[in-house]
Amino acid sequence: MSKADILSMTLDECRALALSLGEKRFRGEQLYGWMQKGVPLSEMKNLPASFREKIENECDYRLPEIARKQVSKKDGTVKYLMRMTDGECVESVFMRYEHGNTVCVSCQAGCRMGCRFCASTLRGRARDLTAGEILGQIAVIQRDTGERVGGIVMMGIGEPLDNYDNTVRFLRLVSSGDGLNIGLRHISVSTCGLIPGIKKLSEEGLPVTLSISLHASDDTRRSSLMPVNNKYPIAELMEACREYFEKTGRRVSFEYTLISGENDSEADAKALAALLKKGMRGPSHINLIMLNKVDETGFDAPDRKGAERFRRLLEENGMNATIRRRLGSDIDASCGQLRLKNMEE
Ligand code: SAH
Repeated sequence: MSKADILSMTLDECRALALSLGEKRFRGEQLYGWMQKGVPLSEMKNLPASFREKIENECDYRLPEIARKQVSKKDGTVKYLMRMTDGECVESVFMRYEHGNTVCVSCQAGCRMGCRFCASTLRGRARDLTAGEILGQIAVIQRDTGERVGGIVMMGIGEPLDNYDNTVRFLRLVSSGDGLNIGLRHISVSTCGLIPGIKKLSEEGLPVTLSISLHASDDTRRSSLMPVNNKYPIAELMEACREYFEKTGRRVSFEYTLISGENDSEADAKALAALLKKGMRGPSHINLIMLNKVDETGFDAPDRKGAERFRRLLEENGMNATIRRRLGSDIDASCGQLRLKNMEE
């Protein structure tokens, strides 16, 4: 029998756990409080030693551990390599914005989506993270920085909708008023476009921002960059996004990574604007990302001027587009590179 994954538990579940271990209900509340602060079991000072021992023996406390940490000298961005209790490593990034601190979390150890430009997928997917392991990244970072985290982007390693149940449990946990209490409106879930997951998510009553990794506006090009497009082509994806907007009232945003010679021409910009105008029946927001070069992939980013021209063309064609600020450009802060490096070592 597998041991109880306590970091994935709600407050009520922790209370029930304490009772089931022969302790008072409030001991479960104390345990929950400590876990939400990212505190190791040995430091949960107000818990009786006997309770801690029972937890040690009968539960599985999967608190991530900081294996490596890189601090950007340019902008204070902190990139963490987090080691899970079974040794699998993922990346998390702490970013400071004017409107508050945001953490980028990973949801799987590796990825099986196969996007050609992405480092996370090069060695496939080792396993899904549990809800607690996703939450734990934030708890540990708040503890390490001593600063409050106000926003989350699920844009680290892994595909959230390929780990659906854990992602949804994580979203409920992390936004819970008795826990980290991070508002769902300040959380972005990024997906390569798994349509069944998008449909399901629209029924959960979770007002998160859905962010679609589009990267190309015709099926031939998109399929060559993102194999997932063979199964879920663009027209169906647009339909699912519009449904998501209609059901949730939340505007869908689109990510478009600029890759030199692949998707960054003038015609590409116009096609992108036309696609979204028609598909979303109105303006949508496009986040342009400069490709972070991954040696194994052979792709390159356009220069800044090219990116700016692309952005301007989108605006001229009625789209609202921003080029994402490159935080932590001096510390390899693109998803998957640190995990990969660590595996190679
Ligand atoms: N699986 C999710 C979240 C992962 S990554 C998704 O596909 O959306 C977050 C974003 O970074 C995605 O838009 C992804 O396509 C993009 N990305 C991946 N590798 C990149 C790279 N080397 N340079 C720039 N963006 C990259």
